Amino acid sequence: VTVARNVADVRTRIQRACENSNRTLQDVTIIAVTKNVDIETAKEVIGEEIVHLGENRVEPFLAKYEEIGNNASWHFIGSLQTRKVKHVINEIDYLHSLDRMSLADEIEKRAERKIKCFVQVKTSTEETKQGLNLEEVVDFIASLACYEKIEVIGLMTMAPFTEETEEIRNCFRQLKHLQEKIQSMDLTYAPCTELSMGMSNDFEIAIEEGATFIRLGTILVEK
Ligand SMILES: *Cc1c(COP(=O)(O)O)cnc(C)c1O
Repeated sequence: VTVARNVADVRTRIQRACENSNRTLQDVTIIAVTKNVDIETAKEVIGEEIVHLGENRVEPFLAKYEEIGNNASWHFIGSLQTRKVKHVINEIDYLHSLDRMSLADEIEKRAERKIKCFVQVKTSTEETKQGLNLEEVVDFIASLACYEKIEVIGLMTMAPFTEETEEIRNCFRQLKHLQEKIQSMDLTYAPCTELSMGMSNDFEIAIEEGATFIRLGTILVEK
């Protein structure tokens, strides 16, 4: 299988999910998660007109960034250690894993422009999942008011890896509900118009529940 074929198949499935939920293709941006593939494969993805790329570790990101640079928009989707912020913050376009004040402080100190951030939220009970608990998010965002380098453009979550589609759907609904609550606060620094949710095994459910960015690895780049 080729990347081109994967992309075509995925686009068909996205189209169908959009139709099922009265949304349009333009509402949903694909982020190709290239964390497990080489630079050549990342370039193939760009060749298919997917220009948003996601990486979750600092060194592999920098290696790709050096080659590809501004031919892609870069999404950092992994947990980011505070001490590594300075290596990536001025190279990336989006951060999907804002989850603590110490990280916000370091971004404020290191960023040379406003950074588009997603606050990462834990919507499942799986122990391994990162992010703030649902009930912590409003206070966390409220406390970002004076951070000039942080714009909270949305929320991000990972659903549990399970066959139980209702459990997955429930995670996405909770994120959507929280988004509405934050939007009603009308904060200029936290427009919160975006939802980063949905991966290879659950992106159609995410689209039906309002995802605006879906993060696809395996299904796009595995040949
Ligand atoms: C790896 C990863 C993805 C992509 O996962 P797939 O199941 O391969 O699509 C999406 N989001 C995050 C945060 C990831 O770490």
